Amino acid sequence: MEEDYSRWYLDIVKKADLMDYGPVKGTMIIKPYGYAIWENIQKDLDRRFKETGHENAYFPLLIPESYLQKEMNHVEGFAPEVAWVTQGGNEQLEERLVVRPTSETIICSMMSQWIQSYRDLPMKLNQWANVMRWEKSTKPFLRTSEFLWQEGHTAHATFEEAEEEALTMLDVYKSFVEEVLAMPVIKGRKTENEKFAGAVHTYSIEALMSDGKALQAGTSHHLGQNFSKVFEIQYSDKDNKLQYVHQTSWGVSTRLIGGLIMTHSDDRGLALPPKVAPIQVVIIPILRKDKEEVKNKAHQIKDQLSQLGIRVKVDDREEMTPGWKFNEYEMRGVPIRIELGPKDIEKEQFVLARRDTGEKEFLSLADLTKIIPAKLDEIQQNMFNKAEQFLKTHTFEANSIDEMKEQLLKEKGFIKSWWCGDITCLDKVKEETGATARNIPFDQREGQGKCICCGKESTTTVIFARAY
Ligand code: AMP
Ligand code: ZN
Repeated sequence: MEEDYSRWYLDIVKKADLMDYGPVKGTMIIKPYGYAIWENIQKDLDRRFKETGHENAYFPLLIPESYLQKEMNHVEGFAPEVAWVTQGGNEQLEERLVVRPTSETIICSMMSQWIQSYRDLPMKLNQWANVMRWEKSTKPFLRTSEFLWQEGHTAHATFEEAEEEALTMLDVYKSFVEEVLAMPVIKGRKTENEKFAGAVHTYSIEALMSDGKALQAGTSHHLGQNFSKVFEIQYSDKDNKLQYVHQTSWGVSTRLIGGLIMTHSDDRGLALPPKVAPIQVVIIPILRKDKEEVKNKAHQIKDQLSQLGIRVKVDDREEMTPGWKFNEYEMRGVPIRIELGPKDIEKEQFVLARRDTGEKEFLSLADLTKIIPAKLDEIQQNMFNKAEQFLKTHTFEANSIDEMKEQLLKEKGFIKSWWCGDITCLDKVKEETGATARNIPFDQREGQGKCICCGKESTTTVIFARAY
């Protein structure tokens, strides 16, 4: 990890058996263990979306070129990353088709047919899908050309309602990422040069990885009437006047799994917060003598815990040694390991080993069903606290480009600085330091100061970082 972070990351995704590389550059296969993490992410987020009044739907993968062309900023932003379908069977297509990089255009075209009156609003849709962006440089989970995500698309009667929706979904993302993935994030608004192509403004949550580089963990866009005007999504209001709807879109992707890895893992491998771990507890029977009795007890414990809704696995294979299994499940990030031998059964105890702290303790079997849920909660909280502590101690302030350079040489992290509002100042910071504006955090520095680049008196603070 210290020597070569990037190599360490690639080793983890492979050794923890999360993915494999696809034959086409930039594509990946998500293997069952990795996909189980994604399913846990989906389940929890989907519940939150429904609780906030959204419904799932599914739209086609292929979008006519003319749709993409309608919104100028949108097409300019996405054209360089788009994959095209030009032929079907042996026939050249009359109109080229886009493999969706995102679905605003096709969803807007349908909304224009579905929305007639104020009674049809708000319309709050979400889709779970794959999308494709022809990325130049790729890395498993963090940036792949095809990725899995969810995209929310909503239409509202007023600007204020759309604004409220965009902020609500940012909050949903923040609480999900913090509570379930145990990754602390900074909420804020993207600067003009970093906002989504076609948005009025973009909100984001930004996380800090353990190498001090930032990761955009989720985005929520206020689209205003940019799309509704070109797709003619109009409703008649209570006075029977035609109005254009105000829209939002928001998404998180399989990138979150990359974020998980780079927030919690270490030289022993992956470390997963209990709430998202496919296996929360692994039971390893020590099979020297009384094998059948020990195995039976292990399965009995498994059943007890399963009944509580805990995801448990017993590994009672005899071809592998307990030591080998300990390493294996540590590598795979399983939060709790239970070791159980004949002596333990005699003493009515078990050994509990924690992945997050490495601590081992003897505990009473009689208390099993009380202890395990409590430990899982404790581990979840501890992993969040550790990551939050890291974020706090790796958030710095810099008052000039030189100070920022110095800081980045010493130790990387978030850098809070004053900014005058001029995009050319951000360009210069990037050119000289490699750091980009992550967002304008809602939590601003008090008072005012000099722009990090041009020195002009400014009242806005920006979070800079080198980013994935
Ligand atoms: P966007 O539509 O660009 O706002 O992105 C929506 C979400 O997908 C954000 O959380 C991004 O961080 C994530 N994302 C964007 N591009 C990729 C990619 N190539 N691979 C994985 N995730 C991505
Ligand atoms: Zn400036």
